[in-house]
Amino acid sequence: MTLARVSQSPPSVLPSPLLQSIIRIFSSSACPIHSSRRISSPVAAAFSQVSQSPHDVREGHVMVAPRPSSRRHWKPTCLYYTQGKCTMVNDATHLEKFSHSLTIDLPVNVSAADKVKPQKLDYLLILDLEGKVEILEFPVMMIDAQSMEFIDSFHRFVRPTAMNEQRLREYIEGKYGKFGVDRVWHDTAIPFKQVLQEFEDWMENNNLWKKKQGGSLKSAAFVTCGNWDLKTKVPEQCKVSKIKLPTYFMEWINVKDIYLNFYRRRATGMMTMMRELQMPIVGSHHLGIDDSKNIARVVQRMLAEGAVMQITAKRQSSTGDVNFLFKDRIR
Ligand SMILES: [Zn+2]
Repeated sequence: MTLARVSQSPPSVLPSPLLQSIIRIFSSSACPIHSSRRISSPVAAAFSQVSQSPHDVREGHVMVAPRPSSRRHWKPTCLYYTQGKCTMVNDATHLEKFSHSLTIDLPVNVSAADKVKPQKLDYLLILDLEGKVEILEFPVMMIDAQSMEFIDSFHRFVRPTAMNEQRLREYIEGKYGKFGVDRVWHDTAIPFKQVLQEFEDWMENNNLWKKKQGGSLKSAAFVTCGNWDLKTKVPEQCKVSKIKLPTYFMEWINVKDIYLNFYRRRATGMMTMMRELQMPIVGSHHLGIDDSKNIARVVQRMLAEGAVMQITAKRQSSTGDVNFLFKDRIR
């Protein structure tokens, strides 16, 4: 721990002394009840995501795993629906197995929302990319920063362009086969360039950005878990896809830096934050849409405890260099 180094953090993101003591009590006790409620084990992950394709319901392969009573009604999100491509919106059997609502996984406690501190931004866009060689998945959760409510989501599977078909099949099998969503990936993935065009339409519809005004987001910011997504991966993918890095990707909030300065302890990743906050994981870890939902839940929790979300990194348009705005940050 480097408590001395975090003492100069911006005061606006510090919890009250009372909250800090509550947080310490919670963080010091490992809670086996909560760990057993997690549904991130390989078996549970396979169970939660199997039969993702409405056209390929593999009944025989569904693993029957006991579900904790509190999660009895939990269903995996339909990944055709999130991309606007579900053809079974009126099919009762399909709806019994798959959820068409993302709000369900991001509920807001009204009394908790009353405790949110005034925010500098109206909306938070939680983004968690998947794909190391090329981007494979681009999920965004839009949260109202003040009310913490889920507003909308954008989700696309992304088809690499600089990879031969054989390698792509192996890559997708390795990445998404274990979640049972490789079929939906192949059915829906589109090139990154098209993803960004559709994302820009989505941002315009949500009044977050205007193409004519050419630039930054309007009172909104991306929230990522680490700097990799927007510092490294998006610029790399833009080069591969031969497009100029859009201005709206030039600044972001690294939730790990906010977490460090708010709670005064460092978390190396989403799983650490959730473990420390005693929050169960929803869905499958490393499935982008589920990770972005879980990060959004961490953000909601931090807001409810008094954190202020603010920009932690900015890229200079002239040089391309990234400046980090917090003195104490996760490196
Ligand atoms: Zn569906």
